Amino acid sequence: MNDRLSMRGAEIAPFYLAGIGQRAMQRAHAGRLVIPMHIGEPTAGIAPAARAAAHANLDRHSSGYWESERLRERIARHYGETYGVDVAPRRILLTSGASAGLVAVFAALFAPGDRVGLARPGYAPYRNALHALGRVPVDIDCGAEASFRLAPAMLDALAEPLHGLIVASPANPTGAMLSREQLQALADRCRAGGTRVLSDEIYHGIEYGSAPVTALALDDDAVVLNSFSKLFRMPGWRLGWLVAPESCVERLSAYLINFFLTPASVSQHAALAAFDDMDELRASVEQYARSRARLLAELPRLGLGGIAPPDGAFYIYADVGHLTDDSLAFCHRLLDETGVAVAPGIDFDPVDGKRFVRFSFAISGAELEQALALLEPWLARQPVIAGAASSRSR
Ligand code: PLP
Repeated sequence: MNDRLSMRGAEIAPFYLAGIGQRAMQRAHAGRLVIPMHIGEPTAGIAPAARAAAHANLDRHSSGYWESERLRERIARHYGETYGVDVAPRRILLTSGASAGLVAVFAALFAPGDRVGLARPGYAPYRNALHALGRVPVDIDCGAEASFRLAPAMLDALAEPLHGLIVASPANPTGAMLSREQLQALADRCRAGGTRVLSDEIYHGIEYGSAPVTALALDDDAVVLNSFSKLFRMPGWRLGWLVAPESCVERLSAYLINFFLTPASVSQHAALAAFDDMDELRASVEQYARSRARLLAELPRLGLGGIAPPDGAFYIYADVGHLTDDSLAFCHRLLDETGVAVAPGIDFDPVDGKRFVRFSFAISGAELEQALALLEPWLARQPVIAGAASSRSR
């Protein structure tokens, strides 16, 4: 082997649920049952108006590099309609999913060695992408004792100040949401400490009580990330957006074009039409609400207690510490023995995640009932670890 050809980039941790996904796919290809509760992916598929717009675009053979001015205007209008916030279309930057937006923001707005805070548990690629880019992810313990929510006192307790803070409300994997007052207090603390707020609002529109607040209403310097993957049910279409402060627009646009050129044009046509499908998309959220209620009633009966009811998103983060101290092995076994795919907590929390799993309930009501019927006897067969704190007693 030629040592000079070694891989010189940073190591990156796996996104473990991708391994669960591959195993689930092999199982499905072999004709065996899979209930996909691992990945955060609505199974209902793209809404009808969006699908029709995509077809029409294909028939017109327009397949060049392209950014839709109309889509940027429509997204800007969405901020007025949904939050009563005025956003100029030039502040909207289209991205190839929120994932591309995250990478561009990390690279464009922070220098190597800069410290960016994130809640633990939280979305794995925040930590992994920051690390790969030479920025320093700073985990902030936001476990059950903190109701899974970031708070200003947690920033006060850090040894060194942060250059950036990722705030996700509703959050992945817990669905925990910050009130306006809580988000305002965090934004104020960040402003005072010279910390840029990165607000991941990808689960906005999927909530089960009060609506979330956009950071744009509270902080002129916040960068907002969003996407058509969740509410709009278009994860495979790889389209999202950033809302950037005026001062960052040019820099972020330059990063995005150099890294990614433009997002897929057919997806932009479909996304514009998706705004005409809001009733259909809201019906999916009503289905998620029913599934959430079913899981909150049934999982404790199956022995998984102590669950914090999610305020939004479509996840339940459940403590399985009485059954395992290896959530990845637990997920593989559950999939192999039942066909129910769930995500291991180690994706979201490298410290305590070995005793948690995440259930995605963006599936149909029928799939959910099938999953519950399979989980009940399987969970009943699992031996309880002697001496392990039961989730019921936590
Ligand atoms: N942010 C959060 C919190 C997520 O859960 C996800 C995907 O699950 C993303 C960002 C990336 O989404 P996408 O790239 O599909 O827009």
